[in-house]
Formats: sequence, structure tokens, C-alpha cells
Amino acid sequence: MVKKYDIAIIGAGAAGLTAAFTAAGFSKKVVLIDKNLPGGECTWSGCIPSKSLINIAKEVHHAKKYTPNLEVDTSVVLKDIQDIIQKVYAGESPEVLKQSGIDFVNGYARFVGPHTVEVEGKQIEAKKIILSTGSTPMVPPIEGLDNVSYLTNETIFTQKSFPKTMTILGGGAIGVEMSQALNRIGVKVTLVEKSEQILPKDEEELVLMIQQRLIDEGITIHTGATAVKAAQKGGQIDLTIEKDGSGTTVSGEGLLIALGRQANVKGYNLEQAGVDYDSKSIKVDDHLETSAKGIYAIGDVVGPYQLSHMANAQGITATQNAILPINKKMDYEHVTWCTYTDPELGRSGLSEKEAREKYGDSIRIYEHEYADLDRANTKKDSIGKVKIILDKKGYILGASILGDRAGEIISQIQTIKSLHINMGKLSGVIHPYPTYSEVLVKIGKKVYVDNLLNQPVVKTFNKAKAGELPADKIAIYGAAAAAGIGIANMAIKNNSKPKLGVENGRLKEMPSTPNAVSSQAASIDKHVPAWPYNGSKKEAKKNLIGMLKGFEGITIIQNDENYVYAVAKSKKMKFKDDIEFFFNDAAQRIEFRSASRVGYSDAGVNRKRYDEMRSRYFSISAHTRNS
Ligand SMILES: Cc1cc2nc3c(=O)[nH]c(=O)nc-3n(C[C@H](O)[C@H](O)[C@H](O)COP(=O)(O)OP(=O)(O)OC[C@H]3O[C@@H](n4cnc5c(N)ncnc54)[C@H](O)[C@@H]3O)c2cc1C
Repeated sequence: MVKKYDIAIIGAGAAGLTAAFTAAGFSKKVVLIDKNLPGGECTWSGCIPSKSLINIAKEVHHAKKYTPNLEVDTSVVLKDIQDIIQKVYAGESPEVLKQSGIDFVNGYARFVGPHTVEVEGKQIEAKKIILSTGSTPMVPPIEGLDNVSYLTNETIFTQKSFPKTMTILGGGAIGVEMSQALNRIGVKVTLVEKSEQILPKDEEELVLMIQQRLIDEGITIHTGATAVKAAQKGGQIDLTIEKDGSGTTVSGEGLLIALGRQANVKGYNLEQAGVDYDSKSIKVDDHLETSAKGIYAIGDVVGPYQLSHMANAQGITATQNAILPINKKMDYEHVTWCTYTDPELGRSGLSEKEAREKYGDSIRIYEHEYADLDRANTKKDSIGKVKIILDKKGYILGASILGDRAGEIISQIQTIKSLHINMGKLSGVIHPYPTYSEVLVKIGKKVYVDNLLNQPVVKTFNKAKAGELPADKIAIYGAAAAAGIGIANMAIKNNSKPKLGVENGRLKEMPSTPNAVSSQAASIDKHVPAWPYNGSKKEAKKNLIGMLKGFEGITIIQNDENYVYAVAKSKKMKFKDDIEFFFNDAAQRIEFRSASRVGYSDAGVNRKRYDEMRSRYFSISAHTRNS
């Protein structure tokens, strides 16, 4: 008998579990199939055991500072790791899945038709199918490797104890994390990497800092070295590596292969379903649908980022596309990751090199050393650096952080980036002291100031001031450049210190900014009529104050015999306007002036406000006269 479902998911790792819970959340009839227990690589042989080992190793490392001869029984470490795996697995067991409305089927699934799979002799048919079959460790064709008992992430955590010495082949995140953690619990580690740099996807400058830390802790690192031969010599595994044309042999009781992941695309008849794939991945479109309609693929089997959180994100997108009448694109703009060395190396978005390639030299780079961070300085041997890359307006393009809690700080950056918040806004966000995250406020303050200085008018002015706008350029750009300088000039003038008050029977300074209006203005377009007293000066003053108080956003700052000064906060433009009134007794009129404290156009806010104030004043003043 064929069992029918709305949605069948093959592979119960990070990707498949997310897809299953999402589908169940939409009340769909869902089946999750896995040849092993649910949890996949992340729970059983990836994130969870590796991060548990890292935590234990960190504790040992710190304890060793005060107890240098501390010895670790690695069989106890491995047992603790298994306990932690069970703790995580308890949250994704078949019983838990059942409670959430998900049927779990334990067995190997093979396609027997476009929408039908066979598991342990039973057929399952589903309207929509999601493939989340994951990956397996990549093992290269190195001479002699088949004849040595090498380890991978799938076998290392199920050992009884760790070997005393270990060669780790592969200087990516897994190889580097494992190197440091194993070394800290007493395994003598040699790390071999083909590229010239370990962690080749990360910022070189930060990678070199962590590399030095690993060397200082006692790890031997060979970069630019290719493994060409492996041989078992009794209890030792010899690995021949070639570097700069010459060969060397490194030896260890253990050899860990950490050379990346290979997509699981073979063995379950993808051809039967019409799903296209190559040796690297199952092919999907922007919406994660494969070449076969109604069949989606997610997680490590698809890439391009073989990370649990990317698998989760894909799981949600694909399931929504499979279930709902929408076709959501998978968004890879906001990618992030963290390498859990001590200290951690976190990354969000682009590196400096990638940003330069994409946006040229308009990018802005902000750096802050951990040495200038109080919290970091409370630790004796702290190292670290934060690097944030912004676009010209102050929005985050990418960031890299090496330092304690980098994984948490980069998550804040990831939030700011994904929600498209200008980095300058961080300047005003209060953080607890002393925290590592304060670094974001410190950088935010610099960005805030630079954002102001980057306003085109201010830039033009500064250029003009520095003599960087020669006559021929002004000629070329003509009026535009000249106007730019003029506006910039005014901006600076207005921004710095407005000359307020009365001098020689007039309001002090003729307003000259384009957004100013005044009853003194020489130029006609800025000119506004003065207001008559309409009776006694005392009445006129009362009416004026009454009128001002009736406005939202206007605050009276000074109220003298012949002078009233108020400030209006323009919500629209986010800038202050100075508003002044002078009671010219000789002429029996109220003279007016208003100008924004920044020099660029405020879209006529001042004039509009003047007209509104004038009409209100006249209505009160007319009423007073008549009563
Ligand atoms: C040592 C290590 C540390 C890592 N650390 C991190 C980390 O800190 N952060 C991070 O984000 N990522 C980390 N990763 C990567 C992360 O583990 C993977 O990206 C993630 O687990 C992939 O999930 P997945 O669901 O795509 O695949 P998997 O978890 O591999 O799940 C695939 C499942 O499909 C099943 N399956 C395959 N074919 C069939 C079939 N035909 N029938 C039935 N079942 C089938 C398999 O049994 C498996 O359970 C780490 C990886 C390793 C190796």
C-alpha cells in the first residue's frame, strides 16, 4: 500500500528538520525520512560535538594557566561530548517529532517514481518532496590513504579516547577549530593546509592574528603544503607533504581529514524523479526548486554555504514555496558565519577585498582594536580587532571580527545589516559597560560624524576651502559648482554658530541661506512682510506669544522687551530652525527672521511655517482688536 502525504522530506538533518517543523506549522501531513536517527551531521558529528569539545578545551586551557601540569583523560572528554549530543538529540527525537505532527520513518529512501520513494520496502507518495540529504566528508585520492586508518568528523567523536599526536589535513574552519581544541586537551597537533593561508575565506590580517595564537599555543602549521602520500607505520601515520617543490614527512598517531564536504547526490535514484545534479550539488533555481517540478532541495546537498543556519534558512524558504502560493527567492545577501577558535573569528557579508571589487573605492572602513576596549583589557592575554566595511552612506556591506565573543557581536552586526540600519545610528544606543559589544557604539560614533561630514554640501565646501576646486573645474561645472560652494559655505556658517539677537536696531544678521525667510531680506524671494502691531505693543506681544505657543514643535527660548527667540524642530527635516522676532517700535512692526541651522534646502519649510504663523497671528490679533 502506498502511504500518501502532502509533503515528504528526505534527510532529517538541520535542513530537513527545519523543513518538517515549518510544514507541520502549516498543518500539512508531513513525513520525515532518514536512514539514521534525526539530527544529521550537526547533532551527531558536526556543530554540537565540535563546539562541546571546544568548550571543554577552553576550560582546560584556562585551568592550565594556574595548573601547568594538568593532564586530561580524553576518554572522559569524549563521554561528556556524547552526553551533550544526547541532550540536543532529545529535542529532535522521533517522539518529539510525532508530538509536532511529523511522522518519522527510519530507513534509506530511493525514488521509484517522480513523486514516490521507497523506504524499507514501503512506498511513500507526496505532492511535494524536499531533498535534504546532506553531505559526507571529502576524502581526496592521496596515494596510500585507503590503507591507513584515518579519521573524519564522522568517526573522531565516537573514539574511546583521542590519540596523543594528530595530523590534521585541512585548514578550513573545521580543521582549525579541531586543531586548537585537541591541542589544548593535550594532543600534539600538526596542521596542514594547501592554501597560503589557513581559513582562506576570511580576512588575511585577522587570520594571521589567530594563526599566531595557534602557533604560540604549540600547534605546528604548514601552509602552502600539499599532501601527496600517506602510510601506516605501526602506530603512526606518516603523511608526505610537498611545499615549495620539496617533500617533508609529518607523523601522528592519528590523521584527521578535514577537507570539506561532498554533496550526497548518488544512490537514491534522483534520475527517476528527473532531478538534475552534478558531483558538487543538486541543481536548484532561485526558489530552491529542482529541475523536477514540486521537488525542492536544501542544505549541504545544495550549498553554496554548507552551514547549519543557511540550511535552516533554505528549509524555511523551500517549504514555504512548496506549500504556499508564493515563490520566494532564497536571499544570500546576508550571509554570516563564525569560526569557533579562541578567540572567535566572526564574519558578516563581504570582506574588504570583495567589497572593493563590487563597490570600488567608495567604501568606508572602520577598525577598532580590542586593545582599546575596556572589557577586553580585563583579560590578560586578549587579542582582537573589529573591521566594519560600509557603503558611502554608512550602511554595512560586511564585517569581520577576531576576538572574544566575536560570534555574538557579529550577530548584532548581522541584525543591523539585515534590517538596513545605518551604522551611525549605533552611536546613540546605550550598551552595558564594560562589554565587548560597546565596540559597535564606538564605531557608530565615528560613522555618525563622518556621515555628517560626507554630506555633499559640506564636502564641496571643504574641497573649495582646501583649494581643490580650481577655476577651470568651476568653469566646467559652472553654476552647479558655484552654488554648491555657496550652499556649503552657508551650511558651515549656519551649522556652526547662528548669529542671533539684535544689533543697531535690527536682527543681527541678514539671513543668507536659501531656506531662510526674513522681513529684512534684500533678495525678493526670501523677503516676507513684517507684521504690524495692530494695536499696542503689549497686545501684539501677547498675540505673538499666544500664536507661538499654539504650535507643536516650537519652543520659546528667549522673551525680552523687544526680542523673542524661538526654536522649531522640524520633524520632516530633522533639523532645528531659529525663529526670531524684533519689535521695531519706531516702525511699529514685528520684524521676522527664520533659518535652518543646516544649509541645504528644507523644501520651503521656513516659508510655509512663516505663512502659517502670520495667518494665525493675524487671526488672533484681529480678534483682539474687534473685542
Ligand atoms: C565538524 C563540523 C563542525 C561544524 N560546525 C558548524 C558550525 O559550528 N556552524 C554551522 O553553521 N555549521 C557547522 N557545520 C556544518 C553543518 O553541520 C552542516 O552544514 C549541516 O549539518 C548540514 O545540514 P543538512 O541537513 O544539509 O545535512 P545533514 O545534516 O548531513 O543531513 C542529511 C541527512 O540525510 C540523511 N540521508 C541522506 N541520504 C538519505 C537517503 N537517501 N535516505 C534517507 N536518509 C538520507 C542522512 O542520514 C543525514 O541524516 C559543521 C560541520 C562539521 C563537519
